[in-house]
Amino acid sequence: MFARLTLTLCLLCACDTVRVHKSTVHVGEEGLDIPLSFASGDDSVTISATSRVACESLLWNDGTSFTNGTFLASPGARLQLRRVTPGESDVDLIAVYRRARPGRQLHLDVNVFVTGAADLSLEAAEHNPRLRKALATMWEIYGRAEIFPGQVRFLPLPLPDPNIELKDCDGDMPSARAGATALQRTRKAPPGLNVLLVQDIEAAKPVAGYSALPGGVVHDVPSPDGVVLTLAYFDTSADDPLGQTLAHEIGHYLGLFHNVEADGTSVDPLADTPKVPPFGMANLMYYASAGRQPKLTAMQIAAMRRHPLLY
Ligand SMILES: [Zn+2]
Repeated sequence: MFARLTLTLCLLCACDTVRVHKSTVHVGEEGLDIPLSFASGDDSVTISATSRVACESLLWNDGTSFTNGTFLASPGARLQLRRVTPGESDVDLIAVYRRARPGRQLHLDVNVFVTGAADLSLEAAEHNPRLRKALATMWEIYGRAEIFPGQVRFLPLPLPDPNIELKDCDGDMPSARAGATALQRTRKAPPGLNVLLVQDIEAAKPVAGYSALPGGVVHDVPSPDGVVLTLAYFDTSADDPLGQTLAHEIGHYLGLFHNVEADGTSVDPLADTPKVPPFGMANLMYYASAGRQPKLTAMQIAAMRRHPLLY
């Protein structure tokens, strides 16, 4: 077991609702138990782990694999981290402890970045009926979790090519870890969930959106972060797949896995999510489109409401 803790810092209290710890740990394939230091009043911790070995896969407590990924936990949880491959490496950890919020209603600030996709100008975006409908669909879904709009800003991010390429280390699925230079350019934005409107995501499989899981922890996390939404469905108006895709990606951003993956057997760790058709398919976090009126379970709502970006 490699348990060397090489650096510990506690700083960067951007506001009184979060506390940030930074450290570097040395991780081997045998695994490392990492203490979580909850203080009185904390109700969750979000951890970002970045291996200094590029494209290395790390495993969390339950065997869930992330490549330099993130993890959301409640008080009492333990964190164990191990390498998939033999050997050892330094891993930079950022742990954000969130204090419990009084009351039921939470708010989320959103920065919508207009890139030139769908020939949408910044001036036109805020009043564009298609975009307004997508945002309304998304907020309607989150309203059921008592998560409401905070500040919603439209910001310019002109891209030379609004088709962006996202690849993970295997080159098959989209990932913020590679090719997402556009997302890196959102990092000077005001605090909030960054939504990047692009024309298309170029990946081996067709994808309508992408999100970090969870995302938006702190702005100096050393990886690009946010939600990418394609405007491929921009012209359709029936079931609003654009709004539902946005809601699905924000679900990832706030900490949710797919209730069922495409292989039909990989499922999320929540006890109350439907895992088989037809009910599984109606969940917002089904791997493919959930159709009309996508559902969220009580445990999905509880998990999302712990995200540090909500206030
Ligand atoms: Zn998804």
